[in-house]
Amino acid sequence: MLLNVLQVGEAVLRRRARPLAIDEIRSPAIQQLIEDLRDTMREAPGVGLAAPQVGVSLQLAVIEDRAELMKDLAAERLDELGRQPVGFHAIVNPTITLGEETVEFFEGCLSLAKFGAVVARARRVTVECWNERAERVRIEADGWYARILQHEIDHLNGCLYIDRMQSRSFMTMDHFNRYWKNLPMAEIRKALLDEGG
Ligand code: ZN
Repeated sequence: MLLNVLQVGEAVLRRRARPLAIDEIRSPAIQQLIEDLRDTMREAPGVGLAAPQVGVSLQLAVIEDRAELMKDLAAERLDELGRQPVGFHAIVNPTITLGEETVEFFEGCLSLAKFGAVVARARRVTVECWNERAERVRIEADGWYARILQHEIDHLNGCLYIDRMQSRSFMTMDHFNRYWKNLPMAEIRKALLDEGG
């Protein structure tokens, strides 16, 4: 079932979500929610969706990055982003450890439909959580996958990318797609972020 994705301005997007009890993960209600989040994410399309974005204040998000979503991006951009397919999985009650090195790239959010901005994120992260089968997992991620994890875990803590963005780079996705999508970050930085550049 497709769920309605809430837009910025809804209080639930600003609340810290409640952790799940581990035996709740296998319950029919949560298994159904995971399935609905997956279908809604794929339909959007997006690479992640957190439960608070559909009005459910729980520490649960789903992630999937499909090759199909990368077909408009040049090989050099995918390289720069460190972007490669990530199989479908859920994260439950995650804790995240950020690597020291940061990288800047554009990101968007289904709860701020049709906008995007440059956000600095850690290049590498370690996430400890439970998955959709209630198994304890430890994820070591870098590049785009690390960015998705940081973005989704922010949602579980009531934080949106606009809290972290380089505000000078805020733009419509139409303009991102028209002007910036396939440019190296160094050029974007020069044109938008370096003041008076
Ligand atoms: Zn988001």
